[in-house]
Amino acid sequence: MNGREYVLKVLEEVSNRNSGEKEFLDAVKEVLLSLAPVFDKHPEYIEAGLLERIVEPERQIMFRVPWVDDNGNVKVNRGFRVQFNSAIGPYKGGLRFHPTVNASIIKFLGFEQIFKNSLTGLPIGGGKGGSDFDPKGKSNGEVMRFCQSFMAELYRHIGQDTDVPAGDIGVGGREIGYMYGYYKKLRGANDPGVLTGKGLTYGGSLTRTEATGYGLIYFTEEMMKDNNSSLAGKIVVISGSGNVAIYATKKATELGAKVVALSDSNGYIYDENGINLDAVKEIKEVKRGRIKDYLNYVPSAKYVEGCRGIWTIKCDVALPCATQGEIDEASAKILVENGTKVVAEGANMPSSLEAIKVFQGNGVLFGPAKAANAGGVACSALEMSQNSMRLSWTFEEVDNKLKDIMVNIYSQSAKAAKEYGEEGNILMGSNIAGFNKVAEAMMAQGIV
Ligand code: NDP
Repeated sequence: MNGREYVLKVLEEVSNRNSGEKEFLDAVKEVLLSLAPVFDKHPEYIEAGLLERIVEPERQIMFRVPWVDDNGNVKVNRGFRVQFNSAIGPYKGGLRFHPTVNASIIKFLGFEQIFKNSLTGLPIGGGKGGSDFDPKGKSNGEVMRFCQSFMAELYRHIGQDTDVPAGDIGVGGREIGYMYGYYKKLRGANDPGVLTGKGLTYGGSLTRTEATGYGLIYFTEEMMKDNNSSLAGKIVVISGSGNVAIYATKKATELGAKVVALSDSNGYIYDENGINLDAVKEIKEVKRGRIKDYLNYVPSAKYVEGCRGIWTIKCDVALPCATQGEIDEASAKILVENGTKVVAEGANMPSSLEAIKVFQGNGVLFGPAKAANAGGVACSALEMSQNSMRLSWTFEEVDNKLKDIMVNIYSQSAKAAKEYGEEGNILMGSNIAGFNKVAEAMMAQGIV
Protein backbone atom coordinates (compact mmCIF):
# COMPACT_ATOMS: atom_id res chain seq x y z
CA MET A 1 0.00 0.00 0.00
CA ASN A 2 1.46 3.41 -0.92
CA GLY A 3 1.16 6.56 1.20
CA ARG A 4 -1.89 7.94 -0.58
CA GLU A 5 -3.77 4.64 -0.45
CA TYR A 6 -3.02 4.39 3.28
CA VAL A 7 -4.23 7.93 3.95
CA LEU A 8 -7.45 7.39 1.96
CA LYS A 9 -8.14 4.14 3.80
CA VAL A 10 -7.75 5.82 7.21
CA LEU A 11 -9.82 8.82 6.11
CA GLU A 12 -12.67 6.52 5.15
CA GLU A 13 -12.52 4.76 8.52
CA VAL A 14 -12.44 8.09 10.38
CA SER A 15 -15.42 9.41 8.49
CA ASN A 16 -17.43 6.21 9.13
CA ARG A 17 -16.66 6.24 12.85
CA ASN A 18 -17.26 9.98 13.41
CA SER A 19 -20.14 10.72 11.09
CA GLY A 20 -21.70 14.12 11.56
CA GLU A 21 -18.56 15.62 13.12
CA LYS A 22 -17.89 18.02 10.26
CA GLU A 23 -15.25 20.22 11.89
CA PHE A 24 -13.28 17.22 13.14
CA LEU A 25 -13.45 15.46 9.78
CA ASP A 26 -12.34 18.60 7.91
CA ALA A 27 -9.35 19.03 10.23
CA VAL A 28 -8.33 15.38 9.85
CA LYS A 29 -8.69 15.54 6.07
CA GLU A 30 -6.58 18.68 5.79
CA VAL A 31 -3.72 17.15 7.79
CA LEU A 32 -3.82 13.59 6.48
CA LEU A 33 -3.91 14.46 2.77
CA SER A 34 -0.67 16.38 3.09
CA LEU A 35 1.07 13.51 4.91
CA ALA A 36 0.81 10.92 2.10
CA PRO A 37 4.44 11.42 0.90
CA VAL A 38 5.70 10.85 4.46
CA PHE A 39 4.31 7.31 4.40
CA ASP A 40 6.02 6.59 1.08
CA LYS A 41 9.29 7.46 2.81
CA HIS A 42 8.40 5.63 6.05
CA PRO A 43 6.42 2.44 5.28
CA GLU A 44 7.18 1.29 8.84
CA TYR A 45 4.68 3.92 10.04
CA ILE A 46 1.93 2.13 8.10
CA GLU A 47 2.84 -1.19 9.73
CA ALA A 48 2.71 0.48 13.17
CA GLY A 49 -0.82 1.77 12.52
CA LEU A 50 0.37 5.28 13.27
CA LEU A 51 -2.48 7.14 11.59
CA GLU A 52 -5.19 4.88 12.97
CA ARG A 53 -3.86 5.67 16.44
CA ILE A 54 -3.24 9.39 15.96
CA VAL A 55 -6.82 10.11 14.83
CA GLU A 56 -8.29 8.52 17.97
CA PRO A 57 -8.15 10.59 21.19
CA GLU A 58 -6.33 8.83 24.04
CA ARG A 59 -9.19 9.89 26.31
CA GLN A 60 -12.37 11.94 26.01
CA ILE A 61 -14.33 13.29 28.97
CA MET A 62 -17.84 14.76 28.87
CA PHE A 63 -19.63 15.94 31.99
CA ARG A 64 -22.61 17.82 33.45
CA VAL A 65 -22.00 21.36 34.70
CA PRO A 66 -24.93 22.54 36.86
CA TRP A 67 -24.95 26.09 38.24
CA VAL A 68 -27.42 28.65 39.62
CA ASP A 69 -28.01 32.02 37.91
CA ASP A 70 -28.56 35.35 39.69
CA ASN A 71 -32.33 34.78 39.75
CA GLY A 72 -32.03 31.40 41.47
CA ASN A 73 -32.71 29.35 38.31
CA VAL A 74 -30.80 26.09 37.87
CA LYS A 75 -28.85 25.90 34.59
CA VAL A 76 -27.11 22.89 33.09
CA ASN A 77 -24.26 23.09 30.61
CA ARG A 78 -22.05 20.43 29.11
CA GLY A 79 -18.30 20.21 29.82
CA PHE A 80 -15.69 18.58 27.56
CA ARG A 81 -12.02 17.66 27.71
CA VAL A 82 -10.33 15.73 24.93
CA GLN A 83 -6.87 14.36 25.80
CA PHE A 84 -5.73 13.64 22.29
CA ASN A 85 -2.06 12.73 22.27
CA SER A 86 0.63 12.65 24.96
CA ALA A 87 3.52 11.21 22.94
CA ILE A 88 5.77 14.25 23.41
CA GLY A 89 4.48 15.72 26.69
CA PRO A 90 1.45 16.40 28.91
CA TYR A 91 -1.79 17.24 27.08
CA LYS A 92 -1.90 20.99 26.49
CA GLY A 93 -4.61 23.12 24.94
CA GLY A 94 -7.19 25.75 25.77
CA LEU A 95 -10.74 25.73 27.09
CA ARG A 96 -13.45 27.34 24.94
CA PHE A 97 -16.70 28.67 26.43
CA HIS A 98 -19.11 29.39 23.58
CA PRO A 99 -22.68 28.24 22.81
CA THR A 100 -21.50 26.50 19.61
CA VAL A 101 -19.15 24.15 21.47
CA ASN A 102 -19.77 20.43 20.87
CA ALA A 103 -17.73 17.22 20.66
CA SER A 104 -16.81 17.77 17.00
CA ILE A 105 -15.40 21.25 17.61
CA ILE A 106 -13.41 20.18 20.67
CA LYS A 107 -12.03 17.17 18.77
CA PHE A 108 -10.99 19.28 15.77
CA LEU A 109 -9.24 21.76 18.05
CA GLY A 110 -7.54 18.97 20.02
CA PHE A 111 -6.37 17.22 16.86
CA GLU A 112 -4.85 20.43 15.44
CA GLN A 113 -3.23 21.09 18.79
CA ILE A 114 -1.09 17.91 18.55
CA PHE A 115 0.82 19.22 15.52
CA LYS A 116 0.83 22.87 16.61
CA ASN A 117 2.36 21.98 19.96
CA SER A 118 4.95 19.78 18.29
CA LEU A 119 5.94 22.65 15.98
CA THR A 120 6.78 24.89 18.94
CA GLY A 121 9.70 22.56 19.74
CA LEU A 122 8.52 22.37 23.36
CA PRO A 123 7.54 19.15 25.18
CA ILE A 124 3.73 19.43 25.09
CA GLY A 125 1.12 16.97 23.84
CA GLY A 126 -2.29 17.87 22.38
CA GLY A 127 -5.61 18.42 24.15
CA LYS A 128 -8.58 20.79 24.20
CA GLY A 129 -11.75 21.35 26.19
CA GLY A 130 -14.58 23.70 26.97
CA SER A 131 -18.29 24.09 27.39
CA ASP A 132 -21.40 25.32 25.58
CA PHE A 133 -21.70 27.95 28.34
CA ASP A 134 -21.89 31.54 27.02
CA PRO A 135 -20.12 34.05 29.32
CA LYS A 136 -21.55 36.94 27.27
CA GLY A 137 -24.12 38.91 29.22
CA LYS A 138 -23.50 36.98 32.47
CA SER A 139 -22.59 38.68 35.75
CA ASN A 140 -19.22 38.04 37.37
CA GLY A 141 -21.01 35.98 40.02
CA GLU A 142 -22.65 33.76 37.41
CA VAL A 143 -19.36 33.27 35.55
CA MET A 144 -17.66 32.39 38.85
CA ARG A 145 -20.28 29.84 39.85
CA PHE A 146 -20.12 28.25 36.42
CA CYS A 147 -16.29 28.09 36.49
CA GLN A 148 -16.35 26.52 39.95
CA SER A 149 -18.84 23.87 38.89
CA PHE A 150 -16.81 23.17 35.73
CA MET A 151 -13.63 22.75 37.78
CA ALA A 152 -15.40 20.56 40.37
CA GLU A 153 -15.28 17.81 37.72
CA LEU A 154 -12.28 18.80 35.56
CA TYR A 155 -9.82 18.85 38.47
CA ARG A 156 -9.77 15.03 38.59
CA HIS A 157 -8.38 14.84 35.08
CA ILE A 158 -5.72 17.57 34.98
CA GLY A 159 -2.32 18.23 36.57
CA GLN A 160 1.00 19.86 35.71
CA ASP A 161 2.42 16.55 34.43
CA THR A 162 -0.77 15.15 32.90
CA ASP A 163 -2.94 17.85 31.32
CA VAL A 164 -2.59 21.64 31.42
CA PRO A 165 -5.56 23.70 30.12
CA ALA A 166 -5.47 27.40 29.18
CA GLY A 167 -7.84 30.00 27.67
CA ASP A 168 -9.49 30.19 24.24
CA ILE A 169 -12.69 31.88 23.00
CA GLY A 170 -14.70 33.07 26.01
CA VAL A 171 -11.99 32.11 28.50
CA GLY A 172 -9.67 34.94 29.50
CA GLY A 173 -7.95 36.06 32.70
CA ARG A 174 -11.21 36.28 34.68
CA GLU A 175 -12.29 32.71 33.93
CA ILE A 176 -8.78 31.25 34.43
CA GLY A 177 -8.61 33.04 37.81
CA TYR A 178 -11.92 31.58 39.01
CA MET A 179 -10.96 28.10 37.81
CA TYR A 180 -7.50 28.19 39.35
CA GLY A 181 -8.89 29.44 42.69
CA TYR A 182 -11.32 26.53 42.86
CA TYR A 183 -8.73 23.98 41.74
CA LYS A 184 -6.43 25.16 44.57
CA LYS A 185 -9.25 24.86 47.09
CA LEU A 186 -10.13 21.32 45.96
CA ARG A 187 -6.51 20.14 45.96
CA GLY A 188 -5.51 22.02 49.10
CA ALA A 189 -2.21 22.97 47.48
CA ASN A 190 -0.61 25.59 45.30
CA ASP A 191 0.02 23.98 41.95
CA PRO A 192 0.28 26.87 39.47
CA GLY A 193 1.58 24.68 36.62
CA VAL A 194 -1.87 23.12 36.19
CA LEU A 195 -3.35 26.03 34.20
CA THR A 196 -1.74 28.70 32.03
CA GLY A 197 -2.89 32.21 31.22
CA LYS A 198 -2.93 32.99 34.96
CA GLY A 199 -2.75 36.51 36.38
CA LEU A 200 0.70 37.94 37.01
CA THR A 201 0.23 37.96 40.80
CA TYR A 202 -0.26 34.19 41.05
CA GLY A 203 2.09 32.50 38.60
CA GLY A 204 1.20 33.98 35.20
CA SER A 205 3.80 34.88 32.61
CA LEU A 206 4.46 38.28 31.13
CA THR A 207 3.67 38.30 27.37
CA ARG A 208 1.11 35.43 27.62
CA THR A 209 -1.78 37.86 27.01
CA GLU A 210 -0.10 39.25 23.91
CA ALA A 211 1.48 35.98 22.74
CA THR A 212 -0.95 34.65 20.11
CA GLY A 213 -1.44 38.01 18.39
CA TYR A 214 2.23 38.99 18.57
CA GLY A 215 3.29 35.50 17.48
CA LEU A 216 0.95 35.70 14.47
CA ILE A 217 2.59 38.92 13.39
CA TYR A 218 6.14 37.61 13.94
CA PHE A 219 5.23 34.61 11.80
CA THR A 220 3.60 36.74 9.09
CA GLU A 221 6.56 39.13 8.94
CA GLU A 222 8.98 36.18 8.62
CA MET A 223 6.90 34.62 5.82
CA MET A 224 6.77 37.98 4.01
CA LYS A 225 10.51 38.56 4.52
CA ASP A 226 11.23 35.18 2.95
CA ASN A 227 9.26 36.45 -0.05
CA ASN A 228 11.00 39.83 -0.24
CA SER A 229 8.21 41.80 1.38
CA SER A 230 7.26 43.10 4.83
CA LEU A 231 4.31 44.46 6.78
CA ALA A 232 5.59 48.04 6.74
CA GLY A 233 3.19 50.26 4.79
CA LYS A 234 0.66 47.46 4.16
CA ILE A 235 -3.12 47.70 4.63
CA VAL A 236 -4.31 44.95 6.98
CA VAL A 237 -7.80 43.61 7.76
CA ILE A 238 -8.23 41.60 10.97
CA SER A 239 -11.43 39.81 11.95
CA GLY A 240 -12.53 39.45 15.58
CA SER A 241 -11.82 41.91 18.37
CA GLY A 242 -10.86 39.52 21.14
CA ASN A 243 -7.50 38.58 22.60
CA VAL A 244 -5.84 37.46 19.36
CA ALA A 245 -7.20 40.27 17.18
CA ILE A 246 -6.31 43.04 19.65
CA TYR A 247 -2.67 42.05 20.07
CA ALA A 248 -2.22 41.25 16.38
CA THR A 249 -3.45 44.79 15.67
CA LYS A 250 -1.00 46.22 18.19
CA LYS A 251 2.09 44.45 16.82
CA ALA A 252 1.16 44.93 13.15
CA THR A 253 0.77 48.67 13.78
CA GLU A 254 4.13 48.77 15.59
CA LEU A 255 5.73 47.18 12.51
CA GLY A 256 4.34 49.98 10.31
CA ALA A 257 1.19 48.37 8.89
CA LYS A 258 -2.21 50.10 8.92
CA VAL A 259 -5.02 47.95 10.37
CA VAL A 260 -8.29 49.32 8.96
CA ALA A 261 -10.95 46.86 10.17
CA LEU A 262 -11.98 44.66 13.10
CA SER A 263 -15.21 42.75 13.81
CA ASP A 264 -17.27 40.78 16.29
CA SER A 265 -20.06 38.29 15.71
CA ASN A 266 -22.53 41.14 14.99
CA GLY A 267 -20.63 43.18 12.43
CA TYR A 268 -17.44 45.00 11.48
CA ILE A 269 -15.91 48.46 11.71
CA TYR A 270 -13.88 50.16 9.00
CA ASP A 271 -11.60 53.05 9.90
CA GLU A 272 -9.54 54.27 6.95
CA ASN A 273 -7.22 56.19 9.28
CA GLY A 274 -6.18 53.03 11.11
CA ILE A 275 -7.90 51.46 14.13
CA ASN A 276 -7.69 53.33 17.45
CA LEU A 277 -6.72 50.37 19.61
CA ASP A 278 -7.15 52.18 22.94
CA ALA A 279 -10.83 52.59 22.09
CA VAL A 280 -11.21 48.90 21.13
CA LYS A 281 -9.44 47.76 24.31
CA GLU A 282 -11.75 49.85 26.45
CA ILE A 283 -14.85 48.53 24.64
CA LYS A 284 -13.79 44.87 24.72
CA GLU A 285 -11.50 44.44 27.72
CA VAL A 286 -13.11 46.88 30.18
CA LYS A 287 -16.75 47.38 29.17
CA ARG A 288 -17.21 43.97 27.47
CA GLY A 289 -19.25 45.81 24.84
CA ARG A 290 -19.89 45.46 21.10
CA ILE A 291 -17.60 46.55 18.28
CA LYS A 292 -20.20 48.99 16.94
CA ASP A 293 -19.57 51.07 20.11
CA TYR A 294 -16.35 52.11 18.31
CA LEU A 295 -18.44 54.81 16.59
CA ASN A 296 -18.85 56.50 20.00
CA TYR A 297 -15.08 56.98 20.02
CA VAL A 298 -14.41 57.53 16.31
CA PRO A 299 -17.61 58.90 14.68
CA SER A 300 -15.93 59.09 11.25
CA ALA A 301 -15.53 55.28 11.15
CA LYS A 302 -18.07 53.01 9.42
CA TYR A 303 -20.00 50.13 11.04
CA VAL A 304 -21.60 47.39 8.94
CA GLU A 305 -23.92 44.69 10.33
CA GLY A 306 -22.87 41.09 9.58
CA CYS A 307 -19.33 39.87 10.05
CA ARG A 308 -18.56 38.16 6.73
CA GLY A 309 -18.58 41.43 4.77
CA ILE A 310 -15.24 42.30 6.33
CA TRP A 311 -13.51 40.24 3.61
CA THR A 312 -14.81 42.58 0.90
CA ILE A 313 -12.53 45.35 2.18
CA LYS A 314 -9.51 45.88 -0.07
CA CYS A 315 -6.33 44.94 1.77
CA ASP A 316 -2.80 43.61 1.25
CA VAL A 317 -2.87 41.29 4.25
CA ALA A 318 -5.89 39.46 5.75
CA LEU A 319 -5.64 37.99 9.25
CA PRO A 320 -8.74 36.01 10.33
CA CYS A 321 -8.66 36.05 14.15
CA ALA A 322 -12.27 35.28 15.19
CA THR A 323 -13.35 31.67 14.76
CA GLN A 324 -13.56 28.58 12.52
CA GLY A 325 -15.22 28.74 9.10
CA GLU A 326 -15.17 32.53 8.70
CA ILE A 327 -13.63 32.54 5.19
CA ASP A 328 -15.50 30.43 2.66
CA GLU A 329 -14.67 29.96 -1.01
CA ALA A 330 -16.65 33.05 -2.08
CA SER A 331 -14.90 35.30 0.45
CA ALA A 332 -11.52 33.87 -0.58
CA LYS A 333 -12.25 34.70 -4.23
CA ILE A 334 -13.16 38.28 -3.31
CA LEU A 335 -9.92 38.67 -1.35
CA VAL A 336 -7.92 37.42 -4.35
CA GLU A 337 -9.81 39.71 -6.77
CA ASN A 338 -9.07 42.65 -4.47
CA GLY A 339 -5.34 41.92 -4.65
CA THR A 340 -4.73 40.45 -1.16
CA LYS A 341 -1.26 38.90 -1.18
CA VAL A 342 -1.01 37.39 2.30
CA VAL A 343 -3.45 35.45 4.50
CA ALA A 344 -2.31 34.19 7.90
CA GLU A 345 -4.64 32.48 10.37
CA GLY A 346 -4.83 33.75 13.95
CA ALA A 347 -8.03 31.78 14.58
CA ASN A 348 -8.21 27.98 14.35
CA MET A 349 -9.41 26.72 10.94
CA PRO A 350 -10.97 30.04 9.87
CA SER A 351 -10.55 29.18 6.16
CA SER A 352 -12.56 26.36 4.62
CA LEU A 353 -10.69 23.70 2.62
CA GLU A 354 -12.11 25.28 -0.57
CA ALA A 355 -10.93 28.74 0.49
CA ILE A 356 -7.40 27.43 1.06
CA LYS A 357 -7.41 25.98 -2.46
CA VAL A 358 -8.33 29.41 -3.83
CA PHE A 359 -5.42 31.03 -1.95
CA GLN A 360 -2.91 28.40 -2.98
CA GLY A 361 -4.09 28.44 -6.60
CA ASN A 362 -3.63 32.19 -6.84
CA GLY A 363 -0.18 32.65 -5.36
CA VAL A 364 -1.41 34.07 -2.03
CA LEU A 365 1.13 33.50 0.78
CA PHE A 366 -0.82 31.35 3.21
CA GLY A 367 0.12 30.91 6.87
CA PRO A 368 -1.97 28.05 8.34
CA ALA A 369 -3.29 28.28 11.91
CA LYS A 370 -1.27 25.49 13.44
CA ALA A 371 1.92 27.35 12.53
CA ALA A 372 0.82 30.99 12.55
CA ASN A 373 -1.09 30.99 15.86
CA ALA A 374 1.22 28.69 17.84
CA GLY A 375 2.62 31.64 19.82
CA GLY A 376 -0.07 31.38 22.50
CA VAL A 377 0.59 27.78 23.40
CA ALA A 378 4.35 28.31 23.10
CA CYS A 379 4.15 31.05 25.67
CA SER A 380 1.93 28.85 27.84
CA ALA A 381 4.71 26.26 27.82
CA LEU A 382 7.13 29.01 28.86
CA GLU A 383 4.72 29.84 31.70
CA MET A 384 4.88 26.15 32.78
CA SER A 385 8.70 26.30 32.77
CA GLN A 386 8.69 29.42 34.96
CA ASN A 387 6.19 27.77 37.36
CA SER A 388 8.41 24.69 37.67
CA MET A 389 11.49 26.82 38.30
CA ARG A 390 9.55 29.15 40.64
CA LEU A 391 10.76 32.29 38.92
CA SER A 392 9.50 34.96 36.53
CA TRP A 393 11.17 36.10 33.35
CA THR A 394 10.89 39.71 32.11
CA PHE A 395 8.54 40.72 29.31
CA GLU A 396 11.53 41.13 27.01
CA GLU A 397 12.92 37.68 27.81
CA VAL A 398 9.63 35.96 27.04
CA ASP A 399 8.97 38.12 23.97
CA ASN A 400 12.42 37.27 22.56
CA LYS A 401 11.86 33.56 23.13
CA LEU A 402 8.44 33.87 21.45
CA LYS A 403 9.96 35.60 18.43
CA ASP A 404 12.64 32.90 18.08
CA ILE A 405 9.99 30.17 18.32
CA MET A 406 7.82 31.77 15.59
CA VAL A 407 10.79 32.29 13.26
CA ASN A 408 11.78 28.67 13.85
CA ILE A 409 8.24 27.40 13.15
CA TYR A 410 8.28 29.21 9.82
CA SER A 411 11.71 27.89 8.85
CA GLN A 412 10.91 24.28 9.87
CA SER A 413 7.68 24.42 7.84
CA ALA A 414 9.36 26.00 4.80
CA LYS A 415 12.18 23.42 4.98
CA ALA A 416 9.80 20.45 5.20
CA ALA A 417 7.78 21.77 2.25
CA LYS A 418 10.95 22.06 0.17
CA GLU A 419 12.18 18.61 1.21
CA TYR A 420 8.93 17.08 -0.05
CA GLY A 421 9.05 18.98 -3.36
CA GLU A 422 6.36 21.59 -2.51
CA GLU A 423 8.45 24.71 -1.95
CA GLY A 424 6.36 27.56 -0.50
CA ASN A 425 3.50 25.29 0.63
CA ILE A 426 3.63 26.19 4.32
CA LEU A 427 0.39 24.31 4.99
CA MET A 428 1.92 21.03 3.88
CA GLY A 429 5.29 21.85 5.45
CA SER A 430 3.82 22.63 8.87
CA ASN A 431 1.70 19.46 8.85
CA ILE A 432 4.73 17.33 7.99
CA ALA A 433 7.14 19.06 10.40
CA GLY A 434 4.62 18.86 13.25
CA PHE A 435 3.77 15.23 12.48
CA ASN A 436 7.38 13.96 12.20
CA LYS A 437 8.31 14.60 15.82
CA VAL A 438 5.10 13.05 17.17
CA ALA A 439 5.50 10.05 14.82
CA GLU A 440 9.07 9.41 15.98
CA ALA A 441 8.02 9.56 19.63
CA MET A 442 5.07 7.22 19.01
CA MET A 443 7.29 4.74 17.18
CA ALA A 444 9.78 4.76 20.06
CA GLN A 445 7.08 4.19 22.68
CA GLY A 446 5.50 1.10 21.09
CA ILE A 447 1.81 0.37 20.59
CA VAL A 448 0.16 2.31 23.42
P1 NDP B 1 -11.93 35.89 22.29
O1 NDP B 1 -13.08 35.27 22.97
O2 NDP B 1 -11.04 36.81 23.03
O3 NDP B 1 -12.43 36.67 20.99
C1 NDP B 1 -13.11 36.01 19.97
C2 NDP B 1 -13.52 37.03 18.93
O4 NDP B 1 -14.08 36.35 17.82
C3 NDP B 1 -14.58 37.98 19.42
O5 NDP B 1 -14.43 39.21 18.77
C4 NDP B 1 -15.86 37.27 18.99
O6 NDP B 1 -16.96 38.15 18.82
C5 NDP B 1 -15.45 36.70 17.66
N1 NDP B 1 -16.25 35.49 17.39
C6 NDP B 1 -16.37 34.38 18.17
N2 NDP B 1 -17.21 33.51 17.63
C7 NDP B 1 -17.65 34.08 16.49
C8 NDP B 1 -18.55 33.67 15.49
N3 NDP B 1 -19.19 32.48 15.55
N4 NDP B 1 -18.73 34.50 14.43
C9 NDP B 1 -18.08 35.70 14.37
N5 NDP B 1 -17.23 36.14 15.30
C10 NDP B 1 -17.02 35.34 16.34
O7 NDP B 1 -11.09 34.66 21.67
P2 NDP B 1 -9.59 34.63 21.18
O8 NDP B 1 -9.19 35.92 20.58
O9 NDP B 1 -8.79 34.05 22.27
O10 NDP B 1 -9.66 33.50 20.05
C11 NDP B 1 -9.92 33.80 18.68
C12 NDP B 1 -9.47 32.64 17.81
O11 NDP B 1 -8.07 32.41 18.00
C13 NDP B 1 -10.15 31.30 18.10
O12 NDP B 1 -10.27 30.57 16.90
C14 NDP B 1 -9.14 30.61 19.01
O13 NDP B 1 -9.26 29.20 18.96
C15 NDP B 1 -7.84 31.06 18.35
N6 NDP B 1 -6.67 30.96 19.22
C16 NDP B 1 -6.62 31.62 20.41
C17 NDP B 1 -5.50 31.52 21.21
C18 NDP B 1 -5.34 32.30 22.46
O14 NDP B 1 -4.24 32.27 23.02
N7 NDP B 1 -6.35 33.02 22.94
C19 NDP B 1 -4.38 30.63 20.82
C20 NDP B 1 -4.49 30.07 19.50
C21 NDP B 1 -5.62 30.22 18.76
P3 NDP B 1 -18.18 38.12 19.89
O15 NDP B 1 -17.66 38.87 21.07
O16 NDP B 1 -19.28 38.79 19.20
O17 NDP B 1 -18.45 36.67 20.19
